[in-house]
Amino acid sequence: GSTVGILGGGQLGRMLAMAAARLGYRTLVLDPNKESPAFQVANEAIVANYDDLRALAQLTSHSDVVTYEFENVPVAPARQAIVEADLFPPAEALEVAQDRVVEKAFLNGIGIETAPWRAIDSVEELAHALIDIGTDCILKTRRFGYDGKGQASIRREGPVADAYENLGSKPSILEGKVPFAYEASLIAARGKDGSIACYDPAENEHSLGILRRSSVPGRVSSHVSKRMIETGSKILEKLNYIGVVGIEFFVKTDETILVNELAPRVHNSGHWTEAACVVSQFEQHIRAITGLPLGDPKRHSDCVMENLIGDEIRKIETLAEESDVLLHHYGKIDVRPGRKMGHLTRLKPRS
Ligand code: ATP
Ligand code: MG
Ligand code: MG
Repeated sequence: GSTVGILGGGQLGRMLAMAAARLGYRTLVLDPNKESPAFQVANEAIVANYDDLRALAQLTSHSDVVTYEFENVPVAPARQAIVEADLFPPAEALEVAQDRVVEKAFLNGIGIETAPWRAIDSVEELAHALIDIGTDCILKTRRFGYDGKGQASIRREGPVADAYENLGSKPSILEGKVPFAYEASLIAARGKDGSIACYDPAENEHSLGILRRSSVPGRVSSHVSKRMIETGSKILEKLNYIGVVGIEFFVKTDETILVNELAPRVHNSGHWTEAACVVSQFEQHIRAITGLPLGDPKRHSDCVMENLIGDEIRKIETLAEESDVLLHHYGKIDVRPGRKMGHLTRLKPRS
């Protein structure tokens, strides 16, 4: 059969490999860490850095299609080693999503609203930008941030130099703090034939920078859902996208929406689809990149997905006593505070 190559062996890579196996594909996973969760389920593992050209060439020569589970894959080596026709989502989507300034410029350029922002390369620029953007802001590094890492809340009257230096004086972005009513996300897919399938948006709650809970439908009204699907479809078309994308939104009390960020991959806030839809986001991604028809994204149940973070994974035995709960353990051996160890989805009949 055909082989799917996956860059990144975390839980997302693991769940992609599981979905690929069910459709009859072999999987080959590349990750620098030999303890990676995806290695337990993949057919073959390559332990190497993401910019190791020989390892990338090995991955491509043994795969019919290559995908990735995280957006920080270095674009230049990937482009050099992987034939562009075989990398999905396309390298342009990676370039847009891995730099917050490029991402916001792209979104604003196609008429999509974001938080007000300025690119920051020095303390002087930061002081000036604070005057334009407002008193309540968030400073973020342009690249490599996740789970709220590489971010600092900052106020105009606060110690500006410290905030910049604490983030390592890296190329950064200053964003105005959006007064949102709630956060939501859209998981959408685009196939090789240009067809688009969107799951119902989820309402997301975070704590300490990490996704805590996704509820479907949560507070998302049909009006907001429609606007999110229009926005998502535009993004997919402009990027000539193939695969699943996760798009994070801020929703204001007047139901206007702003895009926070894009993830060119399967997304934590879409884990509920494995329990409440016939075709999960993981299978949908494999379908999209291998050229199979997209699956029907409709949900058969309402649900709440909760992450099991750190020690919470120890609750899994008690949770197993509950009915209508789908459990998912990532097979990580080391339990560490703040580490995503698994998740559960609690189903209830559709409202
Ligand atoms: P992820 O793990 O989702 O990739 P991340 O580290 O890339 O997270 P963001 O999504 O940019 O970080 O921000 C994390 C959270 O911080 C958001 O979900 C939101 O709750 C809050 N936040 C970020 N930017 C803003 C903003 N401009 N205004 C208000 N809240 C914000
Ligand atoms: Mg992010
Ligand atoms: Mg985010």
